[in-house]
Amino acid sequence: MEYIDLHAHMVSRTTDDYVQMAMTGCVALTEPAFWPGWDRSSADGFEDYFRQITDFEPKRAAQYGIRHYTWLCLNPKEGEDRALAREVLRRIPRYLDRPNVLGIGEIGLNRVTRNELATFRDHVELALEHDQLIHIHTPHLEDKHKGTRVIVETLLEYELDPGRVLIDHAEEHTLEMILGNGFWTGLTLYPQTKVSPERAIDMLEMHGTDRICVASACDWGPSVPVAVPQFILAMRRRGHPDALIRRVVFENPAEFLGQSPKFQLPEGRGMLAGAAA
Ligand SMILES: [Zn+2]
Repeated sequence: MEYIDLHAHMVSRTTDDYVQMAMTGCVALTEPAFWPGWDRSSADGFEDYFRQITDFEPKRAAQYGIRHYTWLCLNPKEGEDRALAREVLRRIPRYLDRPNVLGIGEIGLNRVTRNELATFRDHVELALEHDQLIHIHTPHLEDKHKGTRVIVETLLEYELDPGRVLIDHAEEHTLEMILGNGFWTGLTLYPQTKVSPERAIDMLEMHGTDRICVASACDWGPSVPVAVPQFILAMRRRGHPDALIRRVVFENPAEFLGQSPKFQLPEGRGMLAGAAA
């Protein structure tokens, strides 16, 4: 089944992973800017990274028939450094016109500090100023609920369309506050921590499929680039019809991402329900 992986950090994956994703039906993916596992020493380091995800990585993905889109920001962890954040934010606009850039992300909070929140606000304002979609990371484990609440409350202070914002890494205890305020959300499927395919299916069975996407969030840690096809298999084993599965793995991300005129699927990939199921 064709699918779109809305959250994949391909800079930390090999070409073998692109092959696996292409062979299991991935037609497009989006790569949020992230923390690479170590702190960068300067704004120049971020610019090199922005060139990698706006130039090199889409070409690499194209060799496997996958459309590569991306989001730009200074991630929540490094966002603690306000001087660095200001300098990186000053440089981001020059990359926003690149053909594969859909918006600002993954911004958000890590330890929910005052500095992180200030950097988060700067990014939201930058996105609004440039009419960009927004992709948001929520903290993990004990900071998840509090961090998500602070993010939602902060966003509600702005005059923004919640339908143009996706708040990612949702779990059972944060899904309602995200969806209830009109935002999109993502369930990230991880082998060890975070959400398993079975937990994701439980949540979909309880909440329905509106404004919910799933993604692998594959990166440099333990993660599975083919987590979405694994989810598709788990959905089938639970007895869900292909039309419903396709809604979650293809039509929903296409609807959210399609709000950017830059988001185009490869030739011949239908957007209509059941068109290529
Ligand atoms: Zn991520």
